[in-house]
Amino acid sequence: MLCWGVLSGRALAVAVLGWAMIRATVKRMFGEVTGLRLFHANYDHDRLPPVDAATRAGMAAFSRCIACGRCDVGEAERMVASRGAYPGLMRFVLASSRSMPDYDAAALALEHVPVEVLREKERGCPTGVPLVALARFVDGKARQIRRRPRPDRER
Ligand code: SF4
Repeated sequence: MLCWGVLSGRALAVAVLGWAMIRATVKRMFGEVTGLRLFHANYDHDRLPPVDAATRAGMAAFSRCIACGRCDVGEAERMVASRGAYPGLMRFVLASSRSMPDYDAAALALEHVPVEVLREKERGCPTGVPLVALARFVDGKARQIRRRPRPDRER
């Protein structure tokens, strides 16, 4: 049995990481599902695809919105034409884009907003929310989610 109590700080962190690496390597050698495959096994049913490190690094910018409503100015026509699918950009940023399992609905909303409009709104956003990158992220994840069967349709 390992005794972690004698270690602290960085030494403890290095020891825990090293031990985790050895355990994962041994488990893989004996065919146990680990890493990304384990993530898929655990979360595919929840419609949660993985996010790579580079994308994760840029995601903090997605949550910069201060709900000023500026990006909704001039969107009424598109909202009406969408017949409920598109609730406006601010709601997309603050609500639809926050729940990955529901990204297919968010992607449907985005179909009503041309990318030029997103670019223009991005330039006018006081906190610099990267609307184009956020829309691409949501759309990409929605495609990944759609490729996987819904848990309620598997049985
Ligand atoms: S303009 Fe920017 S800060 Fe204002 S509601 Fe839209 S995304 Fe949020």
